[in-house]
Amino acid sequence: MARKKIIAGNWKMNKTPSEAVALVEELKPLVANEDVDVVFCVPAIDIVPVVEAAKGTNIQVGAENMYFEESGAYTGEISPPNMLVDAGVKYVVLGHSERREYFGETNEDVNKKILKAFEHGITPIMCCGETLQQREQGVTMDFIRQQVKVGFQGVTADQAKTAVIAYEPIWAIGTGKTATTEQAEEVCAGIRACIAEVYDEATAEAIRIQYGGSVNAATAPELFAQADIDGGLVGGASLKADFGKIVNYK
Ligand code: PEP
Repeated sequence: MARKKIIAGNWKMNKTPSEAVALVEELKPLVANEDVDVVFCVPAIDIVPVVEAAKGTNIQVGAENMYFEESGAYTGEISPPNMLVDAGVKYVVLGHSERREYFGETNEDVNKKILKAFEHGITPIMCCGETLQQREQGVTMDFIRQQVKVGFQGVTADQAKTAVIAYEPIWAIGTGKTATTEQAEEVCAGIRACIAEVYDEATAEAIRIQYGGSVNAATAPELFAQADIDGGLVGGASLKADFGKIVNYK
């Protein structure tokens, strides 16, 4: 069965609640494409107004992070069941390279969050990707396989089938430097092979793997046409009308 493409915007730390609603209103008609899953991953404070603004549309709302505990004395953190699920969140970006780099998130933290997301019916979009130095040293796939294997520890095959993995080479994020189609496809195929090893062929065939890193309207069509690339995680270009073109890449 063909995998449905999933194209997600990662707004990062951009847009106030009122700006967020204005952006949803602007993008609503431009992203109306039922052939792909369209997800807006937005800052925590924008979740409630964005869910409200997106009602009745094909836009699904995601968070950019969450904690692996459910409630309690964790000042500043966000609870998956009590806050995200209640607010109407369907997806959560976990292990983005910016969270790993600036907030010290480890593969083990990401694993705990993935397990908790599944426990509450939230689909994780787990990010992985190498630095430029790792690419130049030829250890890209070793590094990513470790991120995937540790990130998915304890995740069942049935859960993994519904998960999303975003391959995001760190050197391509926010730099305007998209990986070549061949580079992106090679790693996405490698991630799928890793899932087949850890689980089985059926799981590898079902899991969706995105490419992320300076995707724009010009590069999306070729990237998303690759056999192992099931859509994209889009940063900068998700904040403008260009996102409509990316969603309608065909
Ligand atoms: C991202 O934030 O996940 C990302 C891919 O950003 P950009 O598209 O701006 O490179």
